[in-house]
Amino acid sequence: MLRRSGVPDGDQVRAQFPEEDVLQKPKAIIECYEEIPCNPCSTSCPFDAIAIPGDINVRPRIDFARCTGCGICVYQCPGLAITIMQIKDDKAVLKIPYEFAPLPKAGEWRTVLDRSGRALVKGRILKVVMTQKQDRTALVHVEVPKRYIYDAITIEVSER
Ligand code: SF4
Ligand code: SF4
Repeated sequence: MLRRSGVPDGDQVRAQFPEEDVLQKPKAIIECYEEIPCNPCSTSCPFDAIAIPGDINVRPRIDFARCTGCGICVYQCPGLAITIMQIKDDKAVLKIPYEFAPLPKAGEWRTVLDRSGRALVKGRILKVVMTQKQDRTALVHVEVPKRYIYDAITIEVSER
């Protein structure tokens, strides 16, 4: 599916996630499916949680026990291939890299999309973090029902 459409299937997505109990704390979900010469995720992680052993073309591997969910790798990844996910009771907080203007605002409701661009649900924007060191890649925190943790990946740029 990934090779044909560019969209990973459910098994490919789930393989990037830890067990759900691990997601009681925020963790980076790395969806870097191709072997490419790239490593800012690994070199930027202050906790040595991401390894690209040996050859720079090797896909990154994350050690969830080391990941604090700090979000640095999310805005350092040039491919916008990393998000942060955390489960909070019956909801989940997804932190996404976002490079469109205008930025959403906390309190807004935005349509949450799946990996093929299909609308899933309205999600509440909890927070938008944009600092100088992020170099114009904002981190948008959006709350979604927990049942969408394997499907939700971004938000619609402007509301329909
Ligand atoms: S979220 Fe922070 S701790 Fe986790 S892998 Fe990324 S940079 Fe490392
Ligand atoms: S920085 Fe992003 S695109 Fe580059 S290897 Fe890491 S996850 Fe993949």
